Amino acid sequence: MSQTLAASPALTRLAEDEVIFRDSVYEFADREIRPLAREMDEHAKMSPALIEKLFDLGVMSVEIPESYGGAGGTFFHSVLAVEALSRVDPSVGVLVDVQNTLVINAVLRWGTDEIKRKYLPKLASKTIGAYCLSEAGSGSDAFALATRATEKGDGFAITGRKLWITNGNEADMFIVFANVNPEAGYRGITAFIVDRGTPGFSVGKKEDKLGIRASSTCELLFEDCVVPKSQILGDVGKGYKVAIETLNEGRIGIGAQMLGLAQGALDHAVGYVKERKQFGKTIADFQGVQFQIARMATDVECTRLLVYNSARLRDAGQPFLTEAAMCKVFSSEVAERTASMAVNLFGGNGFVKEYPVEKLYRDAKIGQIYEGTTNMQLGTIAKNILGA
Ligand SMILES: Cc1cc2nc3c(=O)[nH]c(=O)nc-3n(C[C@H](O)[C@H](O)[C@H](O)COP(=O)(O)OP(=O)(O)OC[C@H]3O[C@@H](n4cnc5c(N)ncnc54)[C@H](O)[C@@H]3O)c2cc1C
Repeated sequence: MSQTLAASPALTRLAEDEVIFRDSVYEFADREIRPLAREMDEHAKMSPALIEKLFDLGVMSVEIPESYGGAGGTFFHSVLAVEALSRVDPSVGVLVDVQNTLVINAVLRWGTDEIKRKYLPKLASKTIGAYCLSEAGSGSDAFALATRATEKGDGFAITGRKLWITNGNEADMFIVFANVNPEAGYRGITAFIVDRGTPGFSVGKKEDKLGIRASSTCELLFEDCVVPKSQILGDVGKGYKVAIETLNEGRIGIGAQMLGLAQGALDHAVGYVKERKQFGKTIADFQGVQFQIARMATDVECTRLLVYNSARLRDAGQPFLTEAAMCKVFSSEVAERTASMAVNLFGGNGFVKEYPVEKLYRDAKIGQIYEGTTNMQLGTIAKNILGA
């Protein structure tokens, strides 16, 4: 019995290096991000100086091996970093999440040695990446994408328009999905790496958003943009595999973002109810308020179990698809209701920008939309349960 327990420690029990890593990222976020969060939200702009510090901290290259200048961590470390950052600012959380769980993840898994030598040292030191799949006409139906790539000399010429691209403003390296053979349907989809500055490629309009406002979301334009064949990630016609497999993992990162957000909202609520007095006592003295805090804490704990379990399964090389979909559905709903309850507990102060919970409430909404909407996740879960 004791042997079984030793072999299966509690999911939320972290190894020593994981505790040190998570705490150092949270301390950084508390010290360096908290004072900037409101201003970055108002101006819808990520601080360039903060981005430099994120590289110095090592959270922009969590899984890149040390031999390429990265932090040499695990996927689980990426999840801990995204959680710790999102507890303070979910906009910074998603910047780091896309860099690690989508972009670096795809390069590590699908990149040729040449691509790894070219991009991993840059991604570890100064280059931000973006992951470019969605278009105006293809969101949930991602493989209906209309961007085309046609063979031209030793490369492919990309023409089309991407929409909703996170990090579009800051990125220098873009993983772009285009179809080289529309007649083959999704089997024509191919992933290309496009550098900022490549002729025919430009970053268009930046969206003005409800939440995660400091995270840029941009349109990208490709007009006969020629990319050499050496910039193909994975094989020609196998881009759908690159997309599916990275997004399956990426959604655990979004779960971590929503977990951090919910924990942040709970932290603020606990602090506030112990200070605020009504009817001659702190509002934490009222059992009605205590029960609301208890529900929030229970939700956060359940979310942490789902997120950590999905990430641990992924690192162990075990199936995690259904767990990851569940973790995204649940974490985004918990983030929304926890932030909503924090607003309630702050009373009028919850509704104004001077206090932090109003922002978290706005930031929470995106969790149910990007990297596969809640309906798409429910479809994945149902398919597995029903075997349909
Ligand atoms: C802030 C932000 C950042 C983003 N970042 C990126 C990024 O970095 N890279 C990228 O490629 N994309 C990105 N996206 C795009 C995002 O992934 C899509 O918006 C998302 O997948 C939904 O697609 P859609 O907006 O076209 O909605 P639609 O697909 O049109 O969905 C609309 C509604 O219909 C429902 N629906 C659609 N199909 C079905 C179905 N078969 N069954 C049941 N319900 C269905 C959906 O659940 C949703 O409620 C981002 C979006 C936002 C808002």
